[in-house]
Amino acid sequence: MAVDSVLSSSSPLGPPAHEKDAKALQFIEDMTRNADAVQERVLGEILSRNAETEYLRRFKLHGATDRDTFKSRIPIVTYEDLQPEIQRIANGDRSPILSAHPVSEFLTSSGTSAGERKLMPTIHEELDRRQKLYSLLMPVMNLYVPGLDKGKGLYFLFVKAESETPGGLLARPVLTSYYKSEHFKTRPYDAFNVYTSPNEAILCADSFQSMYTQMLCGLIMREEVLRVGAVFASGLLRAIRFLQLNWKILANDISTGILNPKVTDPSVRECATKILTPNPELAEFITKECSEENWEGIITRIWPNTKYLDVIVTGAMAQYIPTLDYYSRGLPMACTMYASSECYFGLNLRPMCKPSEVSYTIMPNMAYFEFMPQDPTAPPPSRDSPPRLVDLADLEVGKEYELVITTYAGLCRYRVGDILLVTGFHNAAPQFSFVRRKNVLLSIDSDKTDEAELQKGVDNASLLLKEFNTSVTEYTSYADTTTIPGHYVIFWELLVKDPSNSPTDEVLNKCCLAMEESMNSVYRQGRVADNSIGPLEIRVVRNGTFEELMDYAISRGASINQYKAPRCVSFSPILELLDARVVSKHLSPAAPQWTPERRR
Ligand code: AMP
Repeated sequence: MAVDSVLSSSSPLGPPAHEKDAKALQFIEDMTRNADAVQERVLGEILSRNAETEYLRRFKLHGATDRDTFKSRIPIVTYEDLQPEIQRIANGDRSPILSAHPVSEFLTSSGTSAGERKLMPTIHEELDRRQKLYSLLMPVMNLYVPGLDKGKGLYFLFVKAESETPGGLLARPVLTSYYKSEHFKTRPYDAFNVYTSPNEAILCADSFQSMYTQMLCGLIMREEVLRVGAVFASGLLRAIRFLQLNWKILANDISTGILNPKVTDPSVRECATKILTPNPELAEFITKECSEENWEGIITRIWPNTKYLDVIVTGAMAQYIPTLDYYSRGLPMACTMYASSECYFGLNLRPMCKPSEVSYTIMPNMAYFEFMPQDPTAPPPSRDSPPRLVDLADLEVGKEYELVITTYAGLCRYRVGDILLVTGFHNAAPQFSFVRRKNVLLSIDSDKTDEAELQKGVDNASLLLKEFNTSVTEYTSYADTTTIPGHYVIFWELLVKDPSNSPTDEVLNKCCLAMEESMNSVYRQGRVADNSIGPLEIRVVRNGTFEELMDYAISRGASINQYKAPRCVSFSPILELLDARVVSKHLSPAAPQWTPERRR
């Protein structure tokens, strides 16, 4: 669809709910009205400032900053293509390899390469861009939800482990970098954006102490809380689980006014102690609510003035919507932004819409964006016949594209791996629903496990079965989010050649751990440090189950010649079929190895 024909269907934002929001909303309008011109300017800025980098010189751009030359000379790349350059930067080469501005640190993506987090080089000024995008969120929210200046937000925010590259650059997740920056720590007071969590609690590296203190403050200020959130839905559910496990000691602190000695960090103790005063009445209330068997609506019972949940429930997080509905008695879930370690992309201009209707508007000032059309019938692109990428302003409604970015920090025509569907336009800027991340089979939290990793896990675990003359003949997997935290379930069909020597329960438990040891570092960190993923489970199904699965698929129209057992299932009838044939269940007996240091 041509841009002109959809312009009339997009209504402008505003009028601003508050005078102070006018500038931000005007900025959104300016950027989205002039999306194409802004994109041209952004590309020009990136290419001129990076003209002398090794990377752009290699492709003989000779200082050109126009789109045509750029598109004809610069290849479309993946992380693996850039790894030699990234490794040199990590090893301490300070020459302008990708970016003319010095690389200030690496952001560790939850996307992995060879089992380790991808390292995304960033530059200091990117913090300004991230902050700018954050600054647009509340002015948009204020258009839909009045009175957010009359209370606080209970947000569960965390920093994670950092490491150092051989060349001495920090490597850490983008949110850790942001929360530790002056941009966040010394943010000016804004009545619309007051958190119950003190900075000290957010910045505490010990996840128990951090969560404990954030929950304690949230409970103490329960009546002031107007919104409850975390970055992803899985994080908010983890907080609910934490409350289930710890409400007694939290209530005790509130009753006595004495902070639990488990909180040892001096700065956290100091600020929590200031907030904590004996309040037996509140402690009694918490005890009454939390000791009930039924936790339905616990969020609205404890925080009765909550107007919405602020959590991402799009993409892999959609699996948590029913559970959040249950705990919040159907409060709206606002998905406010779409971002990554490589670049922050954009925001949802209608944040109170239903999760199934969420569309993100990419802000054209953040980077230069291109889009690879997803055409399943087209031959796969190669170096000799690169795909034709489409510009932001030229996308068609109803079509799917893979996002490709060129950033100020020096990524050029970099494939993010996200598949987006164009749902409409706001002014001249397209809006997208998040369709999926390419090649991701299983995800519980920020982990992303692909088919090759799962296969490697099964291969490694099967080695333990050798001495029992047993092999795994078929397998599939499932992300079980009915437990908190969720966990991976792997269905195995076994060929036991000598039934008198079949693998013991203990060995099958060890197989679970062997699979976990094979998983990428994001998975293992989730298991070990963040407690955001539960122990992996193997469910052995009786012989012939996978043949039944095939019969079922064929009865629903699958081609018998092309049938392959799916490596991941989520369709309820198939899960029911599998579960009805389970002969034994096994859980990982221990946590896998994980340290913040990279394995390579
Ligand atoms: P990371 O590189 O670890 O920061 O992860 C970024 C990735 O998380 C993105 O490329 C998306 O795949 C996913 N993501 C981020 N924001 C959203 C969102 N609002 N909805 C769905 N997926 C998201």
